[in-house]
Amino acid sequence: MFRNNNNGAVIVSACLIGIECRYDGGDAFNKKITSILRANTFFPVCPEQLGGLGTPRMPSVLNGGDGEKVWQGTARVINSKGEDVTEQFVRGAREVLKLAKMFNVKKAYLKSKSPSCGCGSVYINGKLAKGNGVLAYLLRDYGIEVTAV
Ligand code: SF4
Repeated sequence: MFRNNNNGAVIVSACLIGIECRYDGGDAFNKKITSILRANTFFPVCPEQLGGLGTPRMPSVLNGGDGEKVWQGTARVINSKGEDVTEQFVRGAREVLKLAKMFNVKKAYLKSKSPSCGCGSVYINGKLAKGNGVLAYLLRDYGIEVTAV
């Protein structure tokens, strides 16, 4: 946890602040988010790493539905080798929710379009569609305000 002044704890996708945790070993640094975070106590998280996946790793896609359907058991997350990585995605999201509960997090800034972090639109069966990633759905369902970045 990184402390600045205390306007409430916030979760942020780690790749957005320059952590090289994306599937290809890169980041998704976003300058705007770093200035927003200056006013908050925040946790950088990568749910895919927290679920046990390494970096770099095979890219993964939602198959059969968005994150909500994954939690309902009617969609899966499949990597580019055809392996089912749903369990790792679910585990990582649960770990993030654990942190959020522990520190009373009310807000999250998550990387758009990711099968984990995407909020509002994600790739389902290879096409951009309405929906949320596995983590974004879980946090929203718990009542945390999620903003796609
Ligand atoms: S899982 Fe989220 S935090 Fe991790 S690399 Fe993907 S978008 Fe970034």
